[in-house]
Amino acid sequence: MAQITFLALRRSYNPSSMADIDQLRELVRDFWAGKPLFCARHPGAQLHGTWIETTYADHIHFECEKGGESFAVPQRPKQQEFDPWQTEGLVVFLERNDNVLCYRCQSSLVIENKTAPGNDRQEFLFTCVRCLSWARWEGNPAEASIETPTNTRSA
Ligand SMILES: [Zn+2]
Ligand SMILES: [Zn+2]
Repeated sequence: MAQITFLALRRSYNPSSMADIDQLRELVRDFWAGKPLFCARHPGAQLHGTWIETTYADHIHFECEKGGESFAVPQRPKQQEFDPWQTEGLVVFLERNDNVLCYRCQSSLVIENKTAPGNDRQEFLFTCVRCLSWARWEGNPAEASIETPTNTRSA
């Protein structure tokens, strides 16, 4: 599953050296956080990110100051970290073998399990292949609950 979405991502973004979804997620996160961005291919070279709003395809345009290469990352909707209760819901769906989709745009999520096999306590990292929204979850999946807490902020 991760392999297929990875290829889909590579095709649509055409990011050449930046094909890795982890890199893209961190890059977009740093962009929204206003942090300096660096090119993956040219060590130390800054990447300039520009937010571009269009009628149908809001995106961030990235351009390397050294190599001049550029690529666009779609951002409608914009990247967001999922709420903890939403994330726990994803774990429940995963346990039931249900479809695990992004809350923001309904695209597939790449799921990385960062835990050693045989360990009850698992660590998951979810990343949307389209808007790069993400969440980290740690715990015992068997104890994950889908109950929505009564007082949550709306997304
Ligand atoms: Zn570069
Ligand atoms: Zn999404």
